[in-house]
Amino acid sequence: MIAQKKISCRIKSLNRKDRKGKELKKPGALGVLSGSENKKSRYMLVYETLKRAFDSLRLQDKPVIAHASLKSFGQIDGGAQSLLRAVLDSVGALMMPTFTYKTMITPSVGPPNNGITYGAEMDLNSQAEAFTPSMPCDKLMGIVPETLRNLPHAKRTSHPIQSFAGIRAEKLLATQTIQNHLAPIAALAEADGWVLLLGVDHTVNTSIHYAEKLAGRKQFLRWALIPNRIVECPGFPGDSAGFNAIASELVNDTRAIQIGNTVVQAVSLRVLFVKVIRILKENPLALLCERDDCERCNAVRESVLG
Ligand SMILES: [Zn+2]
Repeated sequence: MIAQKKISCRIKSLNRKDRKGKELKKPGALGVLSGSENKKSRYMLVYETLKRAFDSLRLQDKPVIAHASLKSFGQIDGGAQSLLRAVLDSVGALMMPTFTYKTMITPSVGPPNNGITYGAEMDLNSQAEAFTPSMPCDKLMGIVPETLRNLPHAKRTSHPIQSFAGIRAEKLLATQTIQNHLAPIAALAEADGWVLLLGVDHTVNTSIHYAEKLAGRKQFLRWALIPNRIVECPGFPGDSAGFNAIASELVNDTRAIQIGNTVVQAVSLRVLFVKVIRILKENPLALLCERDDCERCNAVRESVLG
């Protein structure tokens, strides 16, 4: 938390004069609020506030993968578009997951210990939709990646379940195949990329899945509908509900700032991978969730314990 405190204190000291919502609307006004101010919802964050805060993360020359909760920020003048513009103006390149789970098909039979109940989702199968590049991302992903996907100059990959969208990230996105949907994250790490958590925690940090894969954790097979046929999608990751256990390991490696009602964290992917792999080598059951009925976490346990 040392880095977080250092940055927060610095921004708070700059922000001392900016106490009123109307002042925060002015161009250039700082809206990084102290803890007591966070309880109030009358403040509207503006692009300049966000840009200045994101600039303090020092990611101007870094490609990033971002995960975001727009609501966590409270009110932003210009909504998701302003948030994205501020991020794009503060980083080297941006990509976000634009996953589409409604393409998924559950067969009646398949390989054993696959973290799935075969034949259980036949009703959902009839509602599955074939992936097309223009398919909106799942509502669970939030409005920010969907807004990114629709921005001019945005590119989107064509994995039927786990696509990514990005701007200035064409080379990273081009690495994805149906066999290796996490390749853009590997490429991002190669390029000294960072993960940016915009008001969300590590339970949505897709990059941890790539570190799990590197550590040899069990992966799964899934199926997706594309026009005219069903395709196998190998390398489907496990459950991420237990991922926030990594946060305490990353305290000294996290650049964090408070903006409005929320906290934004940035972590180097290379550092993240080293930490996750080390934890999983020490304890192959680490980062699993606690739910008794979690099929994928239970399948990982079975693969480890036999
Ligand atoms: Zn689980």
